[in-house]
Amino acid sequence: MEFVSKRLESLHPYVPGEQPTDREYIKLNANENPYPPHSSVIEAVKSTLSAAPQKLGLYPDPDVTELRTQIARMLNTTGGVLARASHSADVTAGCRPAPEDELGFEITPDMIFCGNGSDEVLSFVFYTFFDSDRPVVFPEHTYSFYPVYCGYYHIPMERIKLLPDWRLDVGTMLASAAKSSSAMIFANPNAPTGLALTRNEVKQILESAPAGKVVVVDEAYCDFGGESCLPLLKDHKNLVIVRTFSKSLSFAGMRLGYIVAAPELVQAVFCVKNSFNHFPVDFVAKTAAIASCKAAAYYADNARKIAKERESFTAFLRERGYFVLDSSTNFVFTKKDGMGGKELYGRAKDAGILIRHFATPGIEDFVRISIGTHEQMEALKQVL
Ligand SMILES: *Cc1c(COP(=O)(O)O)cnc(C)c1O
Repeated sequence: MEFVSKRLESLHPYVPGEQPTDREYIKLNANENPYPPHSSVIEAVKSTLSAAPQKLGLYPDPDVTELRTQIARMLNTTGGVLARASHSADVTAGCRPAPEDELGFEITPDMIFCGNGSDEVLSFVFYTFFDSDRPVVFPEHTYSFYPVYCGYYHIPMERIKLLPDWRLDVGTMLASAAKSSSAMIFANPNAPTGLALTRNEVKQILESAPAGKVVVVDEAYCDFGGESCLPLLKDHKNLVIVRTFSKSLSFAGMRLGYIVAAPELVQAVFCVKNSFNHFPVDFVAKTAAIASCKAAAYYADNARKIAKERESFTAFLRERGYFVLDSSTNFVFTKKDGMGGKELYGRAKDAGILIRHFATPGIEDFVRISIGTHEQMEALKQVL
C-alpha cells in the first residue's frame, strides 16, 4: 500500500469479542465480569474528582506508587486467588488467603508494574524479554494476542500443539525452549480451554527453563480458582507474572493490568514504558483501582458466585451430552457432537445472547461461554 510503512505488512491485529450496539444482548462472549464494581469504587472517583477537579488537568504519577502499594497489599492478603480468599462479615475489613494460597514471603511494591490493561502490559513484556534472534515458545491454542505481538515486534514464534486432552504439552514446550535457548509464555489457567497447570507443574517449568530466559505466566483468570504462581517468586527470579483487573475486579471498561516479578525485571519494564508512554495509568483509573483493591472481599464473593455458577452450568451441559473441559476460569469451553461451534453461536445470538466462536482450525467445533449471573445462565440454558 502507498504511504504506509513496510512493517505494517507483518501486522495481523487481534480481534476481540464483538461489542455490538444494534440491540441489547446478554454478553457472554468477552469474559467480562457480570457484577458491577463495588459502590466504594464509584464513590472514590466521584469524591476525588469533586474535591480536586484540577487533577484531570495535571499529569498523573508516572510510577503509580500508591496503587502499586495497594496491589501488593491485596496480593499479600488474598494469596492471588480471590475465589478462595476468606473474610469476616465486614467486607471492608480485608481478606485472608486460603491455607493453600499462602505466599510464604511478602510482595513489595517494587515487584509491581502497572499499565493500561494487561494487553498493554503484555506488549511491554514482549518488548522487554523476547529477542528477535530466537523464537519465543508458547502453546498453539492460548491467548490469541501473543502471536499478534510477535508480528508487531518481529519476534519469531514456536507454537506447541496441545495434548489430545487439550492440556499444555509441558515436555515438548521445555524441549523446544531448550533447543533454541528461548523464553516461554503461557496463560494459566489457559484460554480458551480454561484448563490449569498446578503450581508444581509451573515450578518444574521454571526449574527446567533455559538459563537467562524468563517464563511469563499470564494469570488473567487465576482469581476464579487456579493455583497462582505468586509463591514461586520467592525462589525463582526468571518468573514474570502478568495479571489484570479486567476479569475478577470488574474493570474491563477502565483498563488496568500489572506485572509481578523480581524488582530488577520490573525496572527493565519501566525502562520500556518510559520509552513509549510515561503515563499509561491515568488519574481516574488509578483512583478507581486503589478503591478496588480495598474492596477485594466484595470481589472475592463475586468470584465465588461465578465459580459456583460455572460448576452448575458445566454439570447442566454434560447432562445434555456436551463435551466440556474442566474450567478454572470465568468461562467454559464446550462443544456438542453434530453441531458446529458456529451454529451454536448463531442460535445463541438469535436468542439475544452473545457467546464466542473461534474460526481457528482445531477449535472451530467449540464455543467459549463466559459465566454470567444466575439469571443470564438460565436464559442461555433455554437455548442450549
Ligand atoms: C482478557 C485477557 C487479557 C487482557 O486483559 P486486559 O487487562 O483487559 O487487557 C490478557 N490475557 C488473557 C489470557 C486474557 O484472557
